[in-house]
Amino acid sequence: MSRATHCPYCALQCAMFVEAAPGQAPASRPAPFPTNRGGLCRKGWTSAELLASPQRLTAPLLRTRRGGDLAEVDWDTALDHVADRLAALRARHGADAVAVFGSGGLTNEKSYLLGKFARVALGTSQIDYNGRFCMSSAAAAGNRAFGLDRGLPFPLPDLAGAEVVLLAGANPAETMPPMMRHLAAPRLIVVDPRRTATAEQALKNGGMHLAPRPGTDLALALGLLHAVRAQGLLDTDYIAARTTGFEDAWRHAAAWWPEQTEQVTGVPAEHIRAAARMLAAASGAYVLTGRGTEQHAKGTDTVSAWINLALALGLPGRVGSGYGCITGQGNGQGGREHGQKADQLPGYRRIDDPAARAHVARVWGVDPGSLPGPGRSAFELLDALGGPGGPRALLVFGSNPAVSAPDSERVRNRLARLDLLVTADFVLSETAAMADVVLPVAQWAEEEGTMTNLEGRLLRRRALLTPPPGVRTDLEVIGGLARRLGQPAERFPADPGAVLAELGAASAGGAADYSGVSVERLEAGEEVFWPVPDSAATTPRLFLDSFAHPDGRARFAAVGHRPPAEAVDPEYPLLATTGRVMGHYQSGAQTRRIGELTAAEPEAFVEVHPDTGARSGLADGALARVVSRRGATLARVRLTDRARTDTVFLPFHFAGPQAANNLTNAALDPTSRMPEFKVSAVRLEPAGPQ
Ligand code: SF4
Repeated sequence: MSRATHCPYCALQCAMFVEAAPGQAPASRPAPFPTNRGGLCRKGWTSAELLASPQRLTAPLLRTRRGGDLAEVDWDTALDHVADRLAALRARHGADAVAVFGSGGLTNEKSYLLGKFARVALGTSQIDYNGRFCMSSAAAAGNRAFGLDRGLPFPLPDLAGAEVVLLAGANPAETMPPMMRHLAAPRLIVVDPRRTATAEQALKNGGMHLAPRPGTDLALALGLLHAVRAQGLLDTDYIAARTTGFEDAWRHAAAWWPEQTEQVTGVPAEHIRAAARMLAAASGAYVLTGRGTEQHAKGTDTVSAWINLALALGLPGRVGSGYGCITGQGNGQGGREHGQKADQLPGYRRIDDPAARAHVARVWGVDPGSLPGPGRSAFELLDALGGPGGPRALLVFGSNPAVSAPDSERVRNRLARLDLLVTADFVLSETAAMADVVLPVAQWAEEEGTMTNLEGRLLRRRALLTPPPGVRTDLEVIGGLARRLGQPAERFPADPGAVLAELGAASAGGAADYSGVSVERLEAGEEVFWPVPDSAATTPRLFLDSFAHPDGRARFAAVGHRPPAEAVDPEYPLLATTGRVMGHYQSGAQTRRIGELTAAEPEAFVEVHPDTGARSGLADGALARVVSRRGATLARVRLTDRARTDTVFLPFHFAGPQAANNLTNAALDPTSRMPEFKVSAVRLEPAGPQ
């Protein structure tokens, strides 16, 4: 029996051993597993450092007056204080005066119990999570097209057998390098404004790099669909047998001749035709999307346009070809299934569906009428904090919205308006540093639980180490607060196995059915992919016979291009886009505390084309001030011809004056409520002596 656990970071969830010899710091090393094939990235190799870091929190912290310092207190004092304040705010302002902000990094059990805690113990509709900023557009587009959203509806190793893989807005060579072990053989078509490490690999192995102007990849997908049809490459038998809506979708693509597409996107017309031919000629091909397609005010439609292309080529629902979304956060998949989204109950059920409410209420032992309805989406929730009619208190679990939210200075101002801010975290993140109460929780290698990776594969997190004294698990924290708010102890168990069993019952019959998941199956090494409706079930490949809509057919979406929410002008003449680098993860709260990673990427940078640098008076290595209509950030200039001349790139892992999200635009997608992280109009200025 393997005693491996899984990496604390991204959705690949590489398997690893974590060991600590007596008197020595713990260390991680790769474990055999199908997704990482014995590899780890730099973040995985160094992930154990934070377990023994002097920077981790080991006692609750309480700030008793505004402007005062956080001071250590015992657990009873901290939890009593939080529960008393929550009860007082609820009594005075109503249940929605209290809000909860969760995370796509929490285990399935925590995600589930947090949603239940919000709806039952607090009675609030005001719960959402940071996954709203991550892959909510792909979830909405996947549901629209297939009737069900699972990031990859096939196991990752299937990719290795393809001839061609198109990656739109994803850079796994940098963000999840072990995934590239599955992409060594196929030729790649990489769609990205930057010539990323993944694009370099595509160019090396006979593939292509298409570099659209930011905010125009929906137009590029329409142009590719046009090129497929114009060159006689449609899979008409598949379209007739397995889909509906092609003609309506085509009406939006009909004008997008490659030459017209080139004018809007900057991608040469001949490259568009060649990419269409390469995809159509492949005996096995996949279309994969990432955050680059999603984080737009039209993110759902953009992902739909890429799914339309995959459907036109007859890829989804067949062995050896398909469409998938590369989920980002560690439990980005499971975190969106168990009820911490503003509009959902466990099992991927809609919170406004009476039958779903009745089922979940029965499992929870409450009256369905007592369950609140849908709440605000993540940014709308953060923006309402402390304002008229908005929540007065916020509980944050496993997230750092002071850095990771768009237009982050505005969000920090909203956090500062709260009557009560509580965080559960293991380090003093930027959000925790603003809090009134900070609750120190156990880390990934110190607790049991399950995760669901980007393939919909269930994984076992194992407690390989003992947490330091003074630290509690998130489940214990939730239970401790629930009891103080008058809930029976058995309704909020701290045992992850008990929570998993209840999660299974609550999800039974839902789209993401976990009722047949058990620790015993995972412990025995079974490969378990959801839906899992019974103790023998596993579903590695979805949609082979039919899609999840009632008629079994996939839906083309009738989607048209529209420009980004803001445009360049003489004052803000450049576009800024944001993303990740290999050495850091998300808001950087963890990775900025790891020596090797910080040494490799110590500060924010901005990638600038040499021509743009010359026009802006900025040399390589100079300090630049990047300014948008919302704020400014400081970053070290990296001149590179990987950048477009009209676009700069900044990583979003840094905080304070180096935070890329000081620039970003909170314009929201009308369906997914995803903010437009990927397009901001900016200017560059020298900052200080050059
Ligand atoms: Fe694997 Fe992602 Fe962890 Fe890197 S960060 S080791 S790719 S799970």
